[in-house]
Amino acid sequence: MSKVRIYTLAKDLGVENARMLEILDGLGVAYKSVSSTIEEDTVELIKQILEEEGAAQAAPEAAQAADAQGPQAQGSAPQGPAAQAVAQAQPAAAQAVAEPEAATAEQASSEPAAREIPHRAPVVTIMGHVDHGKTSLLDYIRKTRVAAKEAGGITQHVGAFEAKTSKGRIVFIDTPGHEAFTTIRARGANVADIAIIVIAADDSLMPQTREAIAHAQAAKVPMIVAINKVDLPQADPERVKTDLTQLNLVPEEYGGDLIVVPVSAKTGEGVEDLLEYISLTAELEDLRADPKGEFSGVVIEGKVDKQAGVLATVMVQEGTLRVGDFLVVGESYGKIKAMTDSAGARIKDAGPSTPVQVLGFSAVPASGEKVQSAKNEHAAREVIATRADVRRDEENARDRRRNPRTLEDIM
Ligand code: GDP
Ligand code: MG
Repeated sequence: MSKVRIYTLAKDLGVENARMLEILDGLGVAYKSVSSTIEEDTVELIKQILEEEGAAQAAPEAAQAADAQGPQAQGSAPQGPAAQAVAQAQPAAAQAVAEPEAATAEQASSEPAAREIPHRAPVVTIMGHVDHGKTSLLDYIRKTRVAAKEAGGITQHVGAFEAKTSKGRIVFIDTPGHEAFTTIRARGANVADIAIIVIAADDSLMPQTREAIAHAQAAKVPMIVAINKVDLPQADPERVKTDLTQLNLVPEEYGGDLIVVPVSAKTGEGVEDLLEYISLTAELEDLRADPKGEFSGVVIEGKVDKQAGVLATVMVQEGTLRVGDFLVVGESYGKIKAMTDSAGARIKDAGPSTPVQVLGFSAVPASGEKVQSAKNEHAAREVIATRADVRRDEENARDRRRNPRTLEDIM
């Protein structure tokens, strides 16, 4: 053994990737991502530290318990002989341990209350140039990873689906073309946690590829590049990587931190790796939401069904949505009559990172609209009345600026 990838070591030792990175930070060891490699000496040190913590066996629980105890636990963890030896050898490590300010964002948010909020599944959007294989890739994942249930009363294309993997659920937003951009960042908040940029290996970077990359960067959403169509004889994945480098997006194998996965939506090659990288990225993002918190969600798409009426796909972001709840979107409200999950099965409630098709809106809500809930019809009407007042005030103010009537207006 010489060099080993961080996530491989984490897997071998039964430790969460995030914990592994904490230890590396503590040791002052530089890395780019969980797929970076580390030296054998470092591996030995990590093993010693984990042994001293007594965390080698019950690693995931131990890592969480250490997190729950907050920064003190982090600071006191590397106290054994191995850690001290490192602290002496590497001043940077000693500082990282001693100074709470040097804590990572993850550590900073480790108040006990924040720590008890459960993890949630990542929400992933797929973007890229037309014909590069976005739909094909989603279809392949849907075919192989979604157990279609018995069709419920209202089954129509939902605009999102859930894939089951060994690492848990991954939610894919499946909206065509430009709608993908409105769902990645709606009303100033991100809907997607991770963006997959699909680039055809026989075509490389095209205008809409650059546009997609720009959108993901503007929304500060982590990107994973899927080089698709590697089954084609004329596929040239190396050219895609070189072209990406020219945009300052440097693939890991060139020493950068961009994850690039060669795939084929036709043969399925590499798709498992892609799902694995999505889970790894999600783990590092430490995505959490409280199913017991106040409900909030976002409209993925809305439409009218001739028989059912208004149908809308809503992504639950916080809290839990239940049949019978009152929902407020913009200046309209509705009571949920029925909900189906993305596989078409009727459900009664839906927690964070769940796309649901909702029947009961009174008007078709627009993609990207925020959805809130109200205790009862009266409360829902009040929220709407307040919103209407605010809008009218703003409209009046605008009118007055255009056509001043009194001296006060002019001022
Ligand atoms: P989209 O516009 O990005 O959604 O692209 P599509 O999924 O509609 O794919 C465009 C074309 O490329 C279709 O004819 C697909 O059959 C084909 N295609 C997609 N993925 C692959 C692949 O991995 N290998 C090959 N050979 N063809 C593919
Ligand atoms: Mg398509």
